[in-house]
Amino acid sequence: MKEDYYDILGVSKSASDAEIKKAYRKMALKYHPDKNPDDTEAEEKFKKAAEAYEVLSNADKKARYDQFGHQAFDGGGGFGGGGMNMDDIFSQFGDIFGGAFGGGGFSGFGGGGRQRVVKGSNLRIRVKLSLEEVANGVEKKIKVKRKVQAPGTTYKTCTTCNGAGQVTKVTNTILGRMQTAAACPTCSGAGQIIDKKPSDADAQGLKVSEETVSVKIPAGVVDGMQLKVTSKGNDAPGNGIAGDLLVAIQEEDHPTLKREGDNLHYDMYVSLPDAVLGNSKEIDTVTGKVRIKIEAGVQSGKILRLRGKGIPSINGYGKGDLLVHVNVWTPKTLSKKQKEFFESMKEDEHFEPKPESSDKSFFEKVKDMFS
Ligand SMILES: [Zn+2]
Repeated sequence: MKEDYYDILGVSKSASDAEIKKAYRKMALKYHPDKNPDDTEAEEKFKKAAEAYEVLSNADKKARYDQFGHQAFDGGGGFGGGGMNMDDIFSQFGDIFGGAFGGGGFSGFGGGGRQRVVKGSNLRIRVKLSLEEVANGVEKKIKVKRKVQAPGTTYKTCTTCNGAGQVTKVTNTILGRMQTAAACPTCSGAGQIIDKKPSDADAQGLKVSEETVSVKIPAGVVDGMQLKVTSKGNDAPGNGIAGDLLVAIQEEDHPTLKREGDNLHYDMYVSLPDAVLGNSKEIDTVTGKVRIKIEAGVQSGKILRLRGKGIPSINGYGKGDLLVHVNVWTPKTLSKKQKEFFESMKEDEHFEPKPESSDKSFFEKVKDMFS
């Protein structure tokens, strides 16, 4: 069980943005790796706090987390958000500590002299899924235009930093000589620069290539969810690592089925004779058509529950149901003969409504459904 983000930062669910920021700042300073060298427990706490802050400081992510908990980010196959690396955490510091520590002033971040791994930029793409694809899971082949290292590009060690990726500056201040480390301005921290590149490559030795990426989408995804395909974003120059491909799920409307969480709803219209005499009817489900029985004397508003015919839970815990709502269709016009028949039934006590407890009102049924 993953720890609650609010608990990690020690704030209440109603904490303001400022309170969340303050709480994180306190934890980040306390568990900072520079203050706790070789303390893996402190590092773990430092990372957890950063992850919690990453979500709770973003209105959109916070809303999703409040609604769905950790499932919003890491339910099922490889959703993004889980686990941040140190580079992500330190890049987050800019807005937290403002100018105080910005601009490379925090010397020795990440263990002094460690070469930064340069990561290519992420690509974002939207994929539309039918309700059937959501229900059954699907493998999508997606065409992606990503920057890759152009064939023929070669790299050499950066001469400014000799491959270290960092340069050390010594400045004289009123407090004395200060030594600060900053990312190398020539190679941006990569430690490598371009040696040779073909004419069609950009300044970083990259060129756009169209690739087909296969994305496995698990059953039960929700509109707006984001899947991460590692290393299918843009390449980084030199020996950096490629960015990720972020796939946002967009769910298309179904012509007859409406989704509500993992449950589905279907409006079934039944003719007056079918409602009176009984019959059977074919309805849509996400796995094809199914014939269901209409009992003689069925009431309008009755809900038939088809267990397990809904959407599988994204967490792998069971499936939702398909709720079939019965609507008895009353004809708007009648022939003379039909009219006479109904006129003659007006006084017939057989047509008098006599609701029993089994013909519960709609509101009671809804109450039952969610209890
Ligand atoms: Zn350099």
